[in-house]
Amino acid sequence: MSAPATRSKRRSRRRRRTPVAFRLLGMLLALGLVVTVLVLLVRMISPGAEERVEQVTQSNLLTPAPTAVPTPIPTPALPAVDVTSWELRLVDLDHPLGADFAPPMLTVVADNEMVDSRVAPELERLFADARNAGYPIYFCSGYRDYDTQYSIYWNHINNYTAQGMTEEEARAATLLAVQYPGCSEHQSGLCADILESPDQDMEPYIGGSGLMLWLEQHCAEYGCVIRYPKDKTDITGIEYEPWHLRYVGHEAAEYIMGHGLCLEEFLALYETPAPAVTPVPTPVPTPAG
Ligand SMILES: [Zn+2]
Repeated sequence: MSAPATRSKRRSRRRRRTPVAFRLLGMLLALGLVVTVLVLLVRMISPGAEERVEQVTQSNLLTPAPTAVPTPIPTPALPAVDVTSWELRLVDLDHPLGADFAPPMLTVVADNEMVDSRVAPELERLFADARNAGYPIYFCSGYRDYDTQYSIYWNHINNYTAQGMTEEEARAATLLAVQYPGCSEHQSGLCADILESPDQDMEPYIGGSGLMLWLEQHCAEYGCVIRYPKDKTDITGIEYEPWHLRYVGHEAAEYIMGHGLCLEEFLALYETPAPAVTPVPTPVPTPAG
């Protein structure tokens, strides 16, 4: 082949090669365009991944996370007792028995001390069981009539005034330990002061002697409660007396001792709530000008 013919062939090949390159480039551009259009179409039809994440997050915010449901603690029902019955009668300064009150019948339980006959069998059982448990036990005081309470009350006041107290101070000090005549539970015949011996030093009992702990743990089994508990003086008005048991019946006693209440708190649970009173707004005084 001659040189000009060869050059002519190369030119001719270049001329043929150039449209192929353009066609390839065009095809690539078209393919790119198609892919772009397809991607856009897919995005229009179905939200993108980021949008889906955002939707999930938003739906999480809108739907509250499930909270743990607390297991309900069963509230023991109040015992079905008649709070107007004789054994639940409240006796204190605001609820006096009066000078003429006396229990319908009295029975001697021990140490020549008497109680209401309806209570006597339970106290006899308590005395026997405490002795069997190894405790010395002495029935210090049961039923007292009005006149006896009157004497005790005035003896206390006279002792205090002899020590230099005014009568007002002596009355206040006396009422912490001795009820006003006509207002003592001892006149009801439903209570019992139980000690270990005739010794009247009460300090060891307040400190928690073995018998006092036994009474606290077991009194409800005999329908009795510790009438003046340690931390209820502001309610009962009487200082802690672990020796003073009061018969209230078995169901009430189990509830009162089981819930750490005093008799006043227990009876209050049966009161119907008073209707709500709308408070009258106090007029704001206008400053004189
Ligand atoms: Zn007493």
